[in-house]
Amino acid sequence: MNMYLTKSRYLTGQHCSKKLWLSTHRYELGEYVKSFAATIGDEVGIGATTNYPNGKMIQASYKEHEAAVKETLELINDDQTGAIFEAAFEHDDIRIRVDIFERLGDNKWGIREVKSSKLVKNHFYHDIGIQYYVLVGLGYDIASAKLIHTNSNYILKEKEIDWGNFFSAVEYLPDIKESLPEIKNELLRLRKIQHDTKEPFIYPSQGYCKGCEFWDYCTKDKPSDWVEHLPRLSPKKRNELQELKIENIAKIPEGFSLTNNQSKIVNATKTGEVFCDDSFSSEIKKYNPPAYYFDFETLSCAIPIFRGLKPFERVPFQWSLHHLSVEGKTQHWEFLAREKTDFRREMIESFINIVHPNQDKIIVYNASFEKSVLKEMGVLYPDLQDKINNIIERIEDLMAFIQKNFYHPQFNGSFSLKKVLPALLPHEEKYSEGEVSHGGEAQAQFYNIICDKYDQNKKAMARGDLIAYCKKDTHSLILIYQHLLRNY
Ligand code: SF4
Repeated sequence: MNMYLTKSRYLTGQHCSKKLWLSTHRYELGEYVKSFAATIGDEVGIGATTNYPNGKMIQASYKEHEAAVKETLELINDDQTGAIFEAAFEHDDIRIRVDIFERLGDNKWGIREVKSSKLVKNHFYHDIGIQYYVLVGLGYDIASAKLIHTNSNYILKEKEIDWGNFFSAVEYLPDIKESLPEIKNELLRLRKIQHDTKEPFIYPSQGYCKGCEFWDYCTKDKPSDWVEHLPRLSPKKRNELQELKIENIAKIPEGFSLTNNQSKIVNATKTGEVFCDDSFSSEIKKYNPPAYYFDFETLSCAIPIFRGLKPFERVPFQWSLHHLSVEGKTQHWEFLAREKTDFRREMIESFINIVHPNQDKIIVYNASFEKSVLKEMGVLYPDLQDKINNIIERIEDLMAFIQKNFYHPQFNGSFSLKKVLPALLPHEEKYSEGEVSHGGEAQAQFYNIICDKYDQNKKAMARGDLIAYCKKDTHSLILIYQHLLRNY
C-alpha cells in the first residue's frame, strides 16, 4: 500500500479525514470523473508553460513517479533548462509535482502553482506550502513561491489567447515561511489519520461532501428518505437529528421544529401522499396557455472563446423555446451557436423576434437564472433593453409555483427538473438516457464543438445531443404543467 502523502492527499485530508483515509486504503471505492473545469484547468496549465520558452515538460506520468523524479534531476542539472513543467520530487514520504519549477539563477528556484481561477483562495496557500516543505527539505534554495492565476481583467483581443497577459501572480513565500510550523503540525496530524488501521467516522452531508468521489460509498447505507434530502437543513437541525439517531424523514417526530417547506416534505413522506396547497387551483391558472416555455444554456469557463470576452464571463450559447396555444397546439424554435465569434446579438435577437410581437407569458424553470442572463444581454445591447425588459416582466416561474403549492413524495426533497419530471411522469425518457444529461455536460460539449476538439462527425452528433437536451427541458415544462392541471 502506498502510504506516502501527495499534494492532493494533503489537501484532501485538510477537508475530510475519511477522504484521506479512503484515498490511501480504499482508492478503488472512489468514482473518478474529470470535470469540465478540470479539463479547462489542464489547458490553462499548458498555456502558462508558453511563458517559459526555455522550459521542458517531464514526460513520465503521475503513475511513474520515480521515473519522473529521475527526469527532473536530469533537467535540474541542465543549465539550459529555464523551467521544468510538472517537476517531480519526493521527501519525507511526500510526493509532489510542481506545475512550474523555475530556475532563477544563483542556484535559486521558484515554485509556480498555476490555477484556472480568478480568486486567490486560501487553500492555494497550503497547496504551495506543502511543495515548499518538500523542496526545502531536499535542500533547494526557494527564492519565490507564486500562485499564477487567471487575470480577471484580461480581455481576449486576438484570435488566440495572449498567455503573457492572461495571468496574474501573487507571491506567497513570506506567508509560507511564517507558517511552516503549522504545515509541519498538519503533516503530523494527517499522517496519523493515514496510518490508522481504522476508517475514521465522518457523517456525510450534502454541502460538506459536494463533489466527493466517495459519496456513493459513504452514503450506501442511507435510507431513500434520508434526512439529508431535506432542503436547507441547518447544521443545528442536522446535529439534533443525529443526536436523536434519526436518519429517515419518515421518523422525524411530531413537533420537531422545521421550516414550512421541510414540514411539507416530512408530511408527504410520512403519508406517501401528494401535498397540494389550497391555492394550487387558483395559482396554476397563471401558467395556462397561450404561453412560451423557455430555457437558456450558458458557458462560463476560464478560457474566453471569442474576442471581447473575459475569463469566466457567462455566455448564453443556446436556447430552446416551445409555444403552447389555447387549442393545445405546440410549436418549437431553437438556437445553438455555430461559430467561434461573438454570437450573442444573433442569439438574443432571434429570441426577441419570436416572443416580442405578442405578449404571451414566458414560463421558465428557476426564473432567477433566465432573468439574470436576460439582464446581462440588456446591459450588453442597450438598444434592445426595452424589449428585453418587457420579456423579463412576462416571465413566470414554474419551479416557484411547485415549491409553494405542490410536493410529490418521490421528489425526494429536490425540486430540480431532473427530479420532478420522472416523479410525475415516470414513463418519460430520462435525462440520463441522452449523451447530455446536465448543464455541466452541455457546457463541455459546446466548448468541444466550438473549439474544434471534435471531428466533423462527432461535432454533428454533439450538436444533435445538445439540441435534444435543451428541447427536452422546455418540452418537460409543458408536460409538467399539463400533468399538474389534469391530475390535481
Ligand atoms: S463523502 Fe463526505 S464523508 Fe465521505 S469521504 Fe467524501 S467528504 Fe468525507
